[in-house]
Amino acid sequence: MTNFQIEINHSEHKKEKPESSELVFGRVFTDHMFIMDYTAGDGWHSARIVPYQPIALDPASMIFHYGQSVFEGLKAYWTKDEKVLLFRPDRNFHRLNQSNDRLCIPHIDEEHALQALKELINIDREWVPKAEGTSLYIRPFVIATEPFLGVAPAKRYQFIIILSPVGSYYKEGIQPVKIAVEQQFVRAVQGGTGTAKTGGNYASSLKAQEVSSQNGYSQVLWLDGKEKKYIEEVGSMNVFFKIDGEVITPALNGSILNGVTRSSIIELLQHWNVTVTERRISMDEIKEAYKAGKLEEAFGTGTAAVISPIGEFFWQDEQMIINEGNTGELSKKLYDTLTGIQKGEIEDPFKWVQEVELRHAVSFR
Ligand SMILES: *Cc1c(COP(=O)(O)O)cnc(C)c1O
Repeated sequence: MTNFQIEINHSEHKKEKPESSELVFGRVFTDHMFIMDYTAGDGWHSARIVPYQPIALDPASMIFHYGQSVFEGLKAYWTKDEKVLLFRPDRNFHRLNQSNDRLCIPHIDEEHALQALKELINIDREWVPKAEGTSLYIRPFVIATEPFLGVAPAKRYQFIIILSPVGSYYKEGIQPVKIAVEQQFVRAVQGGTGTAKTGGNYASSLKAQEVSSQNGYSQVLWLDGKEKKYIEEVGSMNVFFKIDGEVITPALNGSILNGVTRSSIIELLQHWNVTVTERRISMDEIKEAYKAGKLEEAFGTGTAAVISPIGEFFWQDEQMIINEGNTGELSKKLYDTLTGIQKGEIEDPFKWVQEVELRHAVSFR
């Protein structure tokens, strides 16, 4: 690894930490944050950990106008033997660079990013919540900071990592959700930005989400942008179906986001010798399987929920109730296994988890 120095400026007062039982998603942030600047010609520089604080930006900063931004989401877990574990963080930093690529943002050294994250977690280690189901959510992101109103890749950026202790996604145990198949709006098209984790994708998804929640659905199922026939994702999760014993997930086609949870589920199923196929799958095929009584399970996958079982689809004025609205056996087994590996409670044959080693020698500025 090349020499990578992080300047550390400790916070003088520690914030009060919320009770584990009061934790929600993404509202509370830890005492420190990591920040690093990019300037064309100089590259990435001035890596530092500072007290968590607002950032001052020029109103002409390009992020505000043309949306040049990317982000990641991953979690750290507190284990029973008092370790802090990260789940496949290398994957997230690799994907961050793929997103950077699509948005014309300069690459970040993935090893440096991981080192910075570990350093930051170490400093805010007491913020990793301990109660069952809780975790420390990690949000790395990059924004274009150059003050300029021209439409062009910016010449200045900031890479920031913030941390947020989050509560259990399932307060009352793992619960199936109701999904409306979106027929009007689309999330992404081939050639667009669907494979990148960039803010604009989420801004453009809000309308469909708003309409579906007014109708009593918790998420939408996104179809392909061209024919509105083939299944892409569900909300901001990848999606899986179990049909007649076979597990099927849409193949990465250039508009679907390549989820870390998605690929972990595929590897886990292969490890268990369960047939898992990545291919194009249409809503018509789902309906046919449903009518034939062969649609056994459906679930979404993503870092936040890990597995989100689907109890109902609404499509073309018809309801399809899956597994009588209950969590399927395979969905539950996948959830238990993956969360067990993440928390270090189940053996990890894949070497997916990495420990954030406790380090005491933290230098003050
Ligand atoms: C982040 C995200 C996912 C899930 O990815 P994970 O790496 O599993 O968290 C799926 N779809 C979209 C659109 C996403 O933004």
